[in-house]
Amino acid sequence: MNRRLLTPGPTSLPPQVRIAAAKEIIHHRSDEFLKVFQEVREGLKSIFQTRNEVLIFTCSGTGVMEAVIVNLLSPKDKILVIKGGKFGERWADIGASFGLQVTGIDVEWGRVVDPNLIEKELSRDSQIKAVFTQLVETSTGVVYDIKSIARIVKETEAVLVVDAISGLGGEYLPADEWGVDVVVGASQKALMAPPGLAFVSLSDKAWKLVEESTLPRYYWNFKEALRMQKNNQTPFTPAVSLICALRESLKLIKEKGEDNILKHHARLAEATRKGVLALGLKIFSEAPSNIVTAIELPLGIEDKKLRALMRDRYGVEITGGQGKLKGKIIRIAHLGWVDALDIMAGISSLEMALSQMGFKVNLGEGVKAAEKVLSGSEE
Ligand code: PMP
Repeated sequence: MNRRLLTPGPTSLPPQVRIAAAKEIIHHRSDEFLKVFQEVREGLKSIFQTRNEVLIFTCSGTGVMEAVIVNLLSPKDKILVIKGGKFGERWADIGASFGLQVTGIDVEWGRVVDPNLIEKELSRDSQIKAVFTQLVETSTGVVYDIKSIARIVKETEAVLVVDAISGLGGEYLPADEWGVDVVVGASQKALMAPPGLAFVSLSDKAWKLVEESTLPRYYWNFKEALRMQKNNQTPFTPAVSLICALRESLKLIKEKGEDNILKHHARLAEATRKGVLALGLKIFSEAPSNIVTAIELPLGIEDKKLRALMRDRYGVEITGGQGKLKGKIIRIAHLGWVDALDIMAGISSLEMALSQMGFKVNLGEGVKAAEKVLSGSEE
């Protein structure tokens, strides 16, 4: 049975990337590695759409989220966090762990944040040093309006930090053009590389905060990482195999063209939404993202049973809800190394599994609606 990973990370790997990851290790201080690292640095700048250096760390995405907090802030600093899901809450939790004064904007899970609320908070308290949000709040499938948020934050002393761990490469985020100060990304999502690398870009405004920040750090020292990276080096032993794998995926992305990849994600997302709606299901998210679709579970359908059926019988792996959405939604990702027929498999296995569980569906309706989008025949 073919296995299809329709999960919002880690995602499947193209064969070239798997092969690169399996090769013999090269030494991280060798000329050969320096060349690889340089290519990866350049490739990431292009994905982040920034002229700033993109720092590369060996860790999962959360590692760099914590690194951003300790490099930008000082004890008792005030931060503003958009809390519209599990990952928004993570920013608040990390901030609180380091003794920061965290103000949260609570957004109902599944809804977008109103940028005016951010403006209100920032004008109420000019001491707020940074605003933390997501590009895609993966737990609810919602994409936030970062362009509008950036326009507001730019006019203040605060810096804007966007966790684009899931969205980067799948959703439009021109960091420099929109004036996003800090962007965090990771290897295991749209970048089609294994988990284990995370990235961050910083604007001049953000580097100024780094200069003033006094929270303790050692492994996560951005200034040291920047100094070393300019010579194609890292302060400590990097995950060499992952960097070699990432070089291959960045090459593939460049060949295909980043805009085409964004369009590809948009098309797969639309097909998924249309397929799901045709089955009589509801989309959970107010502003559905192009990387993952969150779907309300119909009454009487048990999440774990549905997902197990899709996985064990048809080889399709999707995810359920997180936190308070556990058992309430399922999430089908269309992220990274996923093609049109993977989506067809996702919709087809969903309708077959639902039907087997006694939910009334007209077999083929979801598939038909998705096919219309994917074949370009939808008016
Ligand atoms: N933020 C977002 C938006 C995410 O989607 C994820 C991973 N699903 C994380 C943070 C955490 O990343 P990691 O598991 O790589 O630490």
